[in-house]
Amino acid sequence: MSDDVLSIIPTDPQWQPGRAAAERTAALAADLAPGLSDGVKVEIDVAWYDTLTPVDCGDNLERIGCPHCGASIDTEWYADLLESHCEDGFATLVVEVPCCGTDTSLDALDYDWPCGFARFEIAIWNPERGWFAAEDLVTFGDTLGHSVKQIRAHI
Ligand SMILES: [Zn+2]
Repeated sequence: MSDDVLSIIPTDPQWQPGRAAAERTAALAADLAPGLSDGVKVEIDVAWYDTLTPVDCGDNLERIGCPHCGASIDTEWYADLLESHCEDGFATLVVEVPCCGTDTSLDALDYDWPCGFARFEIAIWNPERGWFAAEDLVTFGDTLGHSVKQIRAHI
């Protein structure tokens, strides 16, 4: 049994919306992911996190690139990092990458497929649709009050 999760998160990992904006945005997500025609609605979770929380793409992660030296970073390194912070989240995203030793932000690494970090997330479980179009993301951003990005996980 596996799940696909399409998540919307603010592009700024620290940013959090108010409740009203979050509810409007979740309603928009429900409109844009109405589920299958048999009337079964998809499940949408809205979450605020106390700390910076990884929103990763699960099995969809194929490669992590270093933005400084261009090397591929071992995905096991990232998996271990997430594992070690799975209970308390991240106080900071500052990290020294293993390839070239540069201090950078975990959010700045070149994830393929995309991954992110957030203190707010709208997660659409088994969305029965593909990626949101660029104009959908603009509408999400306008509704939420901050620009957003999407993460698609297979878990
Ligand atoms: Zn590097």
